[in-house]
Amino acid sequence: MPPGNVIGVDLGGTKLLAGAVDSGLVVHHRAWRASRERDQAELLDDLVDAVDELRAAMDWNVDAVGFGIPCLIDQEQGRALMAVNLPIADLAFRDVMSERLGIPVYIDNDANVAALVEQRFGAAQGAENVVMLTIGTGIGGGVVVNGESYRGGSGAGVELGHMVIDMDGPRCQGNCPNRGCLEAVASGTAMIREAERIARENPGTPLAIELERRGTLPGPLITELAHDGDAGARQALEHVGRRLGVGISSLVNIFEPEVVVIGGGVIGAGDLLLEPAREEFRARVLPVLADRPIVPARFGEEAGMLGAACLALDGQVRRTTA
Ligand SMILES: [Zn+2]
Repeated sequence: MPPGNVIGVDLGGTKLLAGAVDSGLVVHHRAWRASRERDQAELLDDLVDAVDELRAAMDWNVDAVGFGIPCLIDQEQGRALMAVNLPIADLAFRDVMSERLGIPVYIDNDANVAALVEQRFGAAQGAENVVMLTIGTGIGGGVVVNGESYRGGSGAGVELGHMVIDMDGPRCQGNCPNRGCLEAVASGTAMIREAERIARENPGTPLAIELERRGTLPGPLITELAHDGDAGARQALEHVGRRLGVGISSLVNIFEPEVVVIGGGVIGAGDLLLEPAREEFRARVLPVLADRPIVPARFGEEAGMLGAACLALDGQVRRTTA
């Protein structure tokens, strides 16, 4: 039996991914659930259900569970304070889940754990200072400073997606009262909105035909059409990429990371998204910092799940050596 087996759970705005992971960060089983249109009680039931499914599938014991949740977190109390894109508010998440699962539970913001695993084993390996953005339904942010996750005073910090890049821009989404946040103009949701606008203005194009047929344009389809060369889909990705580059130039000016990592569902677009971001970034960042690389997450859409597993493995090491 390999030592230190955990489950990592990444709770996203549209789906949750759970993985049974050993101490070498090898994934043995995965479980998925939809997270859209669930209330808080249903979300917790789904989380427990996904963890139970993995525990039943494994022939070894699970020592702990790590959760990456798109939420502001009070680390000391283990409370989920508020989420922008999920119905989670003022919840004693760590206590509730550890009681229901009967094993130790560790929680952190989903983008913080993604940044941690990319810094330790992934695209930012070897760098001590890293900024990561995870782009999905919203935009999550993670910052590693001198090799450690930076979380602010209580653990609720580094909401990089709610950095304003356009003071009079569109209203931000969900529970954020601000306008023109990076999340409002460069998330997967913003990309879909942009692609649908382009489709309506260009009837007869592949993008417009798909919109008419489905009534909406799913993110992965936009990416697929863009890879196939559809001009409208490429334009939507470029639009989002440029706004991303504006945000990244501020983040690099502020944190001076050695590398910026981009992850989340939208990263399937690869350079179709990243090249416009790099171009905009180089034009705006303070010139001595213009050489900082902007790279895709190594672990792609699994960065959050693996990061949550990493959080649980770290927690167990601290627990046994304390
Ligand atoms: Zn916002």
